[in-house]
Amino acid sequence: MRWLRKAAIGSLYQFKQSEFMKTSAGRNVVVVGTQWGDEGKGKLVDWLTESAQGVVRFQGGHNAGHTLVINGVKTALHLIPSGIMRPGVKCYIGNGVVLSPAKLFEEIAGLEQVGVDVRSRLRISEACPLILPFHAALDLAREAAREHGGLVKIGTTGRGIGPAYEDKIARRALRVQDLKFPERFAAKLRDLLALHNHVLTSFLGSAAFDFGPTLAPFMRNGEVQFDPVYAQAMAHAKLLAPMMADVSRELNEAHQAGANLLFEGAQGTLLDVDHGTYPFVTSSNCVAGNASAGAGVGPGMLHYVLGITKAYCTRVGSGPFPTELDWEREGTPGYHMSTVGAEKGVTTGRSRRCGWFDAALLKRSAQVNGLSGLCITKLDVLDGLAELQLCTGYMLDGAHTDILPMGADDIERCQPVYETLPGWTQSTVGVTQYEALPPEARRYLERIAELTGVPIHMVSTSPDRDHTILMRDPYQAR
Ligand code: GDP
Repeated sequence: MRWLRKAAIGSLYQFKQSEFMKTSAGRNVVVVGTQWGDEGKGKLVDWLTESAQGVVRFQGGHNAGHTLVINGVKTALHLIPSGIMRPGVKCYIGNGVVLSPAKLFEEIAGLEQVGVDVRSRLRISEACPLILPFHAALDLAREAAREHGGLVKIGTTGRGIGPAYEDKIARRALRVQDLKFPERFAAKLRDLLALHNHVLTSFLGSAAFDFGPTLAPFMRNGEVQFDPVYAQAMAHAKLLAPMMADVSRELNEAHQAGANLLFEGAQGTLLDVDHGTYPFVTSSNCVAGNASAGAGVGPGMLHYVLGITKAYCTRVGSGPFPTELDWEREGTPGYHMSTVGAEKGVTTGRSRRCGWFDAALLKRSAQVNGLSGLCITKLDVLDGLAELQLCTGYMLDGAHTDILPMGADDIERCQPVYETLPGWTQSTVGVTQYEALPPEARRYLERIAELTGVPIHMVSTSPDRDHTILMRDPYQAR
């Protein structure tokens, strides 16, 4: 009998311990873009960081672009998590990110110039594949070759993100941890250059291509040179060393110690390499599930998924866009969105294409992300439009569908089906209470929630972080 009592006490102890761990562990939120990126994730991540002790990037590279406006000062971030703007918050770059050391140190220098302490708060996974100068060379030469060959360009940022992911998947990438071993690094670099220089010169005709001033110091006759790439990498290795970390372990430990974490997605769901408008997509998975694989935490650690959704649609670069409007002609709703919304890319300065809100697209996004709630941004941009069209589905090859099909070829043939809603004349700029919104704006929001089946938990009414309506706090919602 004594053994039974002992076993019972033992299991009670275990139960209590696991209960304790459950209640003391932190709460974690994933933020994803639900459209084609540029939804305003940066502002919301920054806003949510008030409740978080750690912010994590888990995919993409320095092709992301977040703009934060704090006390009227604009800061653009490409690689470093937006949490860096909050003193005391730890920032993590997970293994799912492809890392350009050159761009990282450029960004760190910019932040340090405005007094932001980066180095003591940034942790970088040793498993991140590196982006090196030959990746950008391949990216640029390939896009040019597509254009010369009469193909539509993918619309990449030309920063080497795609080629770096290709090396990762082909299991030949140089990773952050290789920087710690100069000889190993040199040998792998030689092998990589042999392959990529062959592609550049023999297949892409790189000798005749102008790679621009940034890449010029690394190139000769269309080939990337070993010496300058190696020298630059070794200089970066020294600077990176104090920030290299086992990010997976640190995140799990921080979580167990009670830290709230914020997983910051880059780009948007329709740019996801699997679920987006393939092939006009980015090279990583942008969906919420990748927060787990790209940071090294279990899916059970992702408690809430916030879908950042612009009150209309925009898209940069090529690829199908069913609700696209003429956004260049003055006096049109598209022109209104483009100009009032200042729709120009942070990373490339390219104009974003603009169009009506697409609820059928959002339905796809809600499914593949498992969204817990929506944050609708840039509602204020629609102020003053007499009426609004809301896309509820499409006609595709003579049949109606209420969800975005998969892949560019089918999406290309989609004819949007619209519902018309009244617009509003009052300004919503800076509104912080849901009830203070014009009734037409509330109707618009409620219809979006109805069509997509996802509740709206937040609304953003200006670029300023304080101009946010909160219906449900992702860090509190259960
Ligand atoms: P991200 O990549 O998703 O972070 O989006 P971007 O930063 O590229 O683009 C969003 C742009 O919209 C930035 O210039 C923001 O300052 C701005 N923005 C964010 N939320 C709002 C909003 O509610 N209203 C307006 N007018 N602008 C916003």
